[in-house]
Amino acid sequence: MAVVKDQVCGRELNTEDVDRPVRNVPGGAPEVDPAKGTRSFHDGKWYFFCSLACRTKFSSNPAQYLK
Ligand SMILES: [Zn+2]
Repeated sequence: MAVVKDQVCGRELNTEDVDRPVRNVPGGAPEVDPAKGTRSFHDGKWYFFCSLACRTKFSSNPAQYLK
């Protein structure tokens, strides 16, 4: 279990919650619950966010949130 910080809003997230599949689709990738958070790969590292809104903000201007 790892606790990480949402770089946009500062909320703490549990990476296990973000990655936990809510349902298994036959023949498909496990689905995760977007309400639990999401993540984005940037500059060689995974960043976790509480919501798609935070991820979108980060993706549009990562440098602003990485200082
Ligand atoms: Zn957030």
